[in-house]
Amino acid sequence: MRAALLRDFKSPLIIEEVPRPTPGPDELLIEVEACGVCHSDLHIADGDWTQLAGIVKKPLIPGHEIAGRVVERGAAVANLQVGDRVGIPWVHRTCGECEFCRSGNENLCLMQQITGVTVDGGYAEFLKAPASHATPIPPSLSALEAAPLMCAGVTVYRALHQVRLSPGQRLAVFGVGGLGHLAVQIGVALGAEVTAIDLANEKLALAKAFGASKTLDARSPTLIRELRAGGGFHVAIVTSASKTAYDAAFYAARPTGTLLVVGLPAENICFPPILMAAGEIRIRASAVGTRQDVRGVLEMAAAGRLRCQISSRPLHEVNSVLEELRHGRISGRVVLTPQTPST
Ligand code: NAD
Ligand code: ZN
Ligand code: ZN
Repeated sequence: MRAALLRDFKSPLIIEEVPRPTPGPDELLIEVEACGVCHSDLHIADGDWTQLAGIVKKPLIPGHEIAGRVVERGAAVANLQVGDRVGIPWVHRTCGECEFCRSGNENLCLMQQITGVTVDGGYAEFLKAPASHATPIPPSLSALEAAPLMCAGVTVYRALHQVRLSPGQRLAVFGVGGLGHLAVQIGVALGAEVTAIDLANEKLALAKAFGASKTLDARSPTLIRELRAGGGFHVAIVTSASKTAYDAAFYAARPTGTLLVVGLPAENICFPPILMAAGEIRIRASAVGTRQDVRGVLEMAAAGRLRCQISSRPLHEVNSVLEELRHGRISGRVVLTPQTPST
């Protein structure tokens, strides 16, 4: 099968013919119909997350926003059939036994495997994955629509539910990219008054189209004053991959407000303790989501309350897509279609 391989950090992916994986007894072989290109894939390819470098498989097939069809199943698989449409998320496999698995936080499992990081992912015509962690895709969603929900969607869905964002609260969304444009919609659906902040005018226009009541240009020299003008925000979620967004977002939180850490720049973030204490600012981080969160976000999309802005590209264009993502030139999410022939 054809796959895009990461052989070395900071080098382009290489399209190669590799053997089609053989599913184990509890696994599925899935024909990948769509795989979203998440900014995390770029962080991984660039070796940005030095803390994670040791666990990255080499060579690696990246990609963790996968939607496809079951074409083969292991002898022990009972919950899914050949032909079923399923999604495979970042959380690839969990132990089911550690204290985090048992307390409803399997996304924090101590023994977890990660799709497109510790095991091969979806930048390929096929992948294998445990049937236990494959979620059926509702019939009303296409593979292209469902794929980005496996990471971008589930991540912001969990994050905004974790902080119990409620009707009437003010939400600031920093970064209106793959994650951010979905965060705007989930914020609106939860009844919050949403302000979106980004560097690009077209992204701000997208946020408006998805229900943001206000937008602010991240390049404005008076951004912090503008953010604080309305009394600050109950929740300021950062879905940007840039540290600069955090530098502004901290000042957006009202007293007792929450800075919600989701975007994962390589640099450390740092805030003045006196201002954290003076406002009793809460800082909370959120990591992707559980299978229950995946079902929740798929249901929301199937009910027409969440829509990912997608454009599709063939697998062999993956390096140009990553380059466009690096420069902030992608609106919504690009989804690779590995079954499209490479001419
Ligand atoms: P993206 O590139 O699609 O979107 C990022 C957006 O941030 C872009 O629209 C860009 O214009 C904007 N931006 C850049 N600088 C900004 C600034 N100073 N202020 C405001 N906006 C700014 O990326 P994505 O795929 O949405 O991923 C975003 C981040 O979230 C990445 O760091 C990724 O690794 C991380 N992520 C975290 C989790 C998690 O579980 N915590 C899960 C998935 C992705
Ligand atoms: Zn576990
Ligand atoms: Zn992701």
